[in-house]
Amino acid sequence: MKNYSILKKSIFNLTICFFIVVGCSGSKSNGNDRYRIKPLSLRLQAPKVLIIYDNSNHYGVKCLEQTVRACRYGEILYEVFDINQREKLPALNEYASIAVVTESLWKLDKQQCQNLIAFVKDGGGLFIAFRSWNENLSTLFGVTNSYEPQFIEKDQNVYFLKEFLPGGDGLVIQQDDVSNYSYQVDSTITLIARTDEYPIVWFHRFGKGRVIYWNTGLLARKINRGFITRSIAAVQPFTAVVIANIGIFDLDDYPNSSNNVKLEPIKSEFDMTMSEFYTLRWYPDMLNLAKRFGIKYTAVVVFNYNGRTHPPYQFFEWLNGTFKLGGKEIKSSLFAARNLTDETELGLHGYNHQPLTIGNWKTEQNMKMALNAARNRWGVDHLGKLPFSYIPPLNIYDSTGVNVLTQTFPSIKEVGALYLGKYEKGQFREFGPEPWNEKLYVIPRNTSGYIMTDFFKRCMISILISNGIWAHFVHPDDVYPLGERYEENQLKELNIKSLKWYGEPQKNGLYYQLIRWLEFSKENFPWLRYMKRKDAYLVMQMYDRAKITASSQSNIVNLEVNVVPCYFQFFLREKNKLEGVVNCEVIHEYDTEFGSHYIFKANDHVMMLEFKDPIQ
Ligand SMILES: [Zn+2]
Repeated sequence: MKNYSILKKSIFNLTICFFIVVGCSGSKSNGNDRYRIKPLSLRLQAPKVLIIYDNSNHYGVKCLEQTVRACRYGEILYEVFDINQREKLPALNEYASIAVVTESLWKLDKQQCQNLIAFVKDGGGLFIAFRSWNENLSTLFGVTNSYEPQFIEKDQNVYFLKEFLPGGDGLVIQQDDVSNYSYQVDSTITLIARTDEYPIVWFHRFGKGRVIYWNTGLLARKINRGFITRSIAAVQPFTAVVIANIGIFDLDDYPNSSNNVKLEPIKSEFDMTMSEFYTLRWYPDMLNLAKRFGIKYTAVVVFNYNGRTHPPYQFFEWLNGTFKLGGKEIKSSLFAARNLTDETELGLHGYNHQPLTIGNWKTEQNMKMALNAARNRWGVDHLGKLPFSYIPPLNIYDSTGVNVLTQTFPSIKEVGALYLGKYEKGQFREFGPEPWNEKLYVIPRNTSGYIMTDFFKRCMISILISNGIWAHFVHPDDVYPLGERYEENQLKELNIKSLKWYGEPQKNGLYYQLIRWLEFSKENFPWLRYMKRKDAYLVMQMYDRAKITASSQSNIVNLEVNVVPCYFQFFLREKNKLEGVVNCEVIHEYDTEFGSHYIFKANDHVMMLEFKDPIQ
């Protein structure tokens, strides 16, 4: 049955048009963005994706979930079709593209395969998101196999040969269960990614249309969601995708209850205690990076590491760290908390580092009293306005934990949970209300640390292309190989034991590694607006409401958005030249092998783009 897309964005009272002022100081906006909201009225015929799935195909259904999420975030119109319920495909000519998210394409008979072939030949887009086989479709797929290829199930590396996502050139997916067919591709295809033995992703021009084939089940995983958005955009004549345009940088465990011991590698590098390093070297260095890259921070305070989960809740450790400044002994935690600059929001990490779960604290009362103690201390130490943002210790909480948090800190409206991980631990979250407590809004974090591994690079660029968000976190004590933060194998892999802060003269320390990561970000996503979490929360309220629609006629594209200003990506599957814009500005233009890719800022509800050549 056809199931018309139910958009996640809440529906508005159509008669209301209102103004909201938020204090988001993006690099492009220099101050307050005044939002205007108005319902869409032009009824533009936007391109639509038909998503073919099979509800009896377990992994395919996971791929369906990711595809639907990608479409909802970006406001790409779609309909879904269950091949298990109905055997005959609907009329295809009302769709710009077809996304197949199941391995059940074998269920299509010869006639339906011919319909599919004719659809692409006439200019339609086909995106095979989940490896699939049908003997009548091999020419359309761009493969030479005449019989069903062998199914390969083993861990393999996937190497990207083309820059399919911005910054994704040379990307490697390490040892993953690729689950592919032993396909042999035609010489006319463009190979995008491969394992040592098999082609995994390829692009195929077929008649007037385009095919992108993912010979794997990898798109069923959340981490790869951005590849779905990009694949749809690579086969449709044009695609508009709304993005939030938010960069978040959390400083976990700062300020904290540090101590006065000298530990390696900082001991030999600076002859500093931990307290001295955090406040006199690490934070000032982070501020230099903020200046250089336009970053805003959200620092989250943890008062103790005492592990206590029942009263009395004291603060001996909090006042433990000291250092000498101008001959005076200074409490390092208070110094850190009171000397955050305007670039930094102060949020809460906890009374201590015990995750807010009933398993940890045994009773709600134990948890509540600890958080009350933290709130009182916030006042006693004059830390300013009560916190707006919360970061869970060890990235873990449960439903009791978040309920107690909202009771004791009603000022907290926003949580930085993990994007990946395990749902039952308070992780694997989406951007939106916390499912266990609607008073909290989640802006999940997708990368961490100072070293951009291939895994983190993929996490980062994949979300950036699906909704334009990068949320990252580091700890001041990451430079100390204390063990709690990293597992033994990770330490080995990251070679962290030998890395100092600067690592002069080679400049291979964590500080320089982070600079490399931020340079990568600036080079590939120069449009990204860094902001504090509480400002990001306000932008997300607008992003969640944003809708975009567009239609084209010859070389002209008309667009309409309901929220202004807003940011969106615009893709053309053919290279073209932008010759004029009305009511929007080009923020960035990507050079790609898969058509044109732009980032725009909408300055009014109705916009127009003029290209040199007709859009096809
Ligand atoms: Zn922490």
